[in-house]
Amino acid sequence: MQIKPGLPWKELPLGGVIDVPGSSVEFHTGDWRSSRPVIDLNKCTGCMLCWLNCPDNAIKIKNGKVEIDYDHCKGCGLCASVCPVKAISMRREALEEEERHGSKHKP
Ligand code: SF4
Ligand code: SF4
Repeated sequence: MQIKPGLPWKELPLGGVIDVPGSSVEFHTGDWRSSRPVIDLNKCTGCMLCWLNCPDNAIKIKNGKVEIDYDHCKGCGLCASVCPVKAISMRREALEEEERHGSKHKP
């Protein structure tokens, strides 16, 4: 049985057993993240250590460049800590949100 978001609890399998692999793709776990990794591609050497260490498989390769899958990145910061050239910085989601939509607190 595939567990999907919004499934009523009465329809969950006994013991919450996950018997279909890959079901986590359906859940956008990134929506409760408090910090997000941002990659500076000018610094990135393509060593792939971030990809190798991400516990959520949230780093993808597109057109030969690393990219974050923000739907599934939980913001743990492991990628930033292993990057040998410090190409990844962790930014507070609240600040990102302010920058996207403008802040009331700006002078
Ligand atoms: S912050 Fe954590 S979950 Fe997100 S991409 Fe980096 S290692 Fe993966
Ligand atoms: S660990 Fe850093 S340098 Fe290596 S691929 Fe990831 S972002 Fe690029």
